[in-house]
Amino acid sequence: MAFKVSALASKIPQAARDNIKAGWTTSVGLGDKVYLIRGKIEWPAIIVSDTRARRVRLDATGKAHETQTEVMYNRFTVSQAVMWGEKWAGPKGSFGGELADLTYTLLNHEETEFKLERLVRSRTFDQFPDEGDEENGLQLITKTKAKIKMKTPPAEAVWKTKVGPLPWPAIWRIRADYVSPRDKISWMKVRHRTLWVAKSGGMNTTSCAMTGCVHEENIEHLVDCTLIRRGFWTKIEALMRALNMNPGCRLFWLFGLKPGRNKWEPADPEEAAMISWAWRALYAEVTRAHIDDKPLDINAAYARFVRLAHMRLQAYGYKWYRWYSRQQFRAFPKVVPLKHRQKKLIESGPDAEYLINPTLSAEFRRTPDKERN
Ligand SMILES: [Zn+2]
Repeated sequence: MAFKVSALASKIPQAARDNIKAGWTTSVGLGDKVYLIRGKIEWPAIIVSDTRARRVRLDATGKAHETQTEVMYNRFTVSQAVMWGEKWAGPKGSFGGELADLTYTLLNHEETEFKLERLVRSRTFDQFPDEGDEENGLQLITKTKAKIKMKTPPAEAVWKTKVGPLPWPAIWRIRADYVSPRDKISWMKVRHRTLWVAKSGGMNTTSCAMTGCVHEENIEHLVDCTLIRRGFWTKIEALMRALNMNPGCRLFWLFGLKPGRNKWEPADPEEAAMISWAWRALYAEVTRAHIDDKPLDINAAYARFVRLAHMRLQAYGYKWYRWYSRQQFRAFPKVVPLKHRQKKLIESGPDAEYLINPTLSAEFRRTPDKERN
């Protein structure tokens, strides 16, 4: 299997990188916490006037201490700092920064106390070769046990102008089973309106990557595009129905909402997993298309989705199997709890013999692995 995401990333044209970076320099205000970047330099600093920034020193815990050194910040690429409460996690756009940002988001919106340990353990779900880095990132997270307050992200206001009022607390409460931390990113960015799309600039085009579609590529268009809908979303909707799930359409894929009796009903954890995998798979192919300047291969996106789902379910089944085998010869072995057995996508007996839903397995076998050759 060849998920060469890091190789892909290295192929992003320099012009595109510069463009993305240029975007970050546009709005800094007094007191902003930033990183000043130039070549190998990456200095944490605070903006103190309209030309100057005062450098700060970060101690071992990531807290900043002011220094007396001021520099002209227009001689650097200025990137907003991603903060963990008081701590500086890294420049926006860097791996450390993005990971902290993701975790911050999870902390913000999964109201109950977020179990960092759970996040770390879930890295056993990560079987893509490109996810090695995540391990370091997650260790960083375990060290940082910051408690973070709730705040309303501005994305909600922007979405409101586009789709009207939505039950945001319910949306942020949606959780997904089976998924890895990285599986969550694309869909998370959709809801936060931070998913990078062609319209954001930096590529050869600002329009949709599907052959025959001239629409501008923005986040909604990835769901609304007739061609993407036909080749991707409706196929997943059909598969979900065959799996006894009940997807909605547009707002389901964007926000995990489906029409209920008299109000919106949020996706359940297994449906939310399907949404996360769908976005991850689609977005990977969209990005690849733009980087290679080729049309979007929508069948590859669907195949990626099916493989991803299948792989995560295998990992989930294996996790319980390992858990069970480690203790089955004890005097009083435990059985797999019922709530972990009765699922739509995977079934298991008390002794952790698991069975991925045959409909999904069949779809997995039927779907060609385009990357294999
Ligand atoms: Zn389109």
